[in-house]
Amino acid sequence: MKRQTYSFDDVLLVPQYSDIESRSEIDLSRDLGSCSLAMPIISSPMDTVTGLEMASTFGEMGGLAVTHRYCDMVEQSKMTPFSAAAAVGVTDDYMQRIEFLNNDAGVITFCLDVAHGHHTLVERALKSIRDKWGRGLNLIAGNVATPKGYLALSEWGADAVRVGIGGGSICSTRIQTGHGVPTFESVLTCSYEDGALIIADGGIKTAGDIVKALAAGADFVMLGSMLAGTDQSPGEVFQGNDDKKYKVYRGMASVEAQKEWRGEARSLEGISTTVPYKGCVIKIVQDLLQNVRSGLSYSGARNITQLQAKSEFIVQSSASQIESNTHILRRG
Ligand code: IMP
Repeated sequence: MKRQTYSFDDVLLVPQYSDIESRSEIDLSRDLGSCSLAMPIISSPMDTVTGLEMASTFGEMGGLAVTHRYCDMVEQSKMTPFSAAAAVGVTDDYMQRIEFLNNDAGVITFCLDVAHGHHTLVERALKSIRDKWGRGLNLIAGNVATPKGYLALSEWGADAVRVGIGGGSICSTRIQTGHGVPTFESVLTCSYEDGALIIADGGIKTAGDIVKALAAGADFVMLGSMLAGTDQSPGEVFQGNDDKKYKVYRGMASVEAQKEWRGEARSLEGISTTVPYKGCVIKIVQDLLQNVRSGLSYSGARNITQLQAKSEFIVQSSASQIESNTHILRRG
């Protein structure tokens, strides 16, 4: 049996001495291959998260959006503006899709989007793409849960690796297959190795989780549910029975997504659900970034590299977890 592992809610960062007088002193920029990004947030390649509007808005904010691959390449090209990245698979038309998106839309950043990335098909795909395009493209690949997986994808040619298996808010991989590792644990253990950039992916639900992921060694976080339900996510707003507004958010391995895109559902590892309508994603991301900056300030860090060097994690007891959430007692 392996040792105890920890999730975001199991840990806290210990506040450190800070000489930061204003959050404007804090720099959250990060490079991904040849892409300079103003913020460490990447939108997930899911059909209820990233289409044209999310990709354009993320571009305007200086972040990276990865458009989903559940459409033909012509449609994907139309929803991938210049500064966005595009997801591709590792079988069938992925080489043609890359070529088309690269020529037609000028896309230079691609994400090999696979549930189990530590896999021979990902090795073959990464090597084929590098053989053909050399270092001319920025490549994200994943997902992996272990340092072995992370190092393998780094060696096979990935510039950045999506780290996290089974942690997504709409994910049922751990229930259906018994496999997975808490995302926080995966990020922390991968960060001890010398490899590609790390994108923490799955189960990030608060600004605090973003700070913890970055402090644990992630260069970026990838968000699904936090960006779903916004004006810029694909899909219609509808009124629930409670008169409140909602949008659909679904896993790409849910029955609904698979039936729509593949015509049949096999190996179900996700669910489809609704999330409250949240309005404009710009406000959501700006609020998140303000809180992330506050987080860096609590660690006395002016940038993500300093945060990773200075951060000190402690494990919380269950009583501490209750105290960490808003917990005022309502009496009388
Ligand atoms: P969230 O930010 O917790 O909502 O997680 C989003 C992440 O869940 C995505 O970036 C994917 O890595 C993962 N994911 C997307 N669809 C599925 C699915 O159907 N099953 C399992 N994981 C999924």
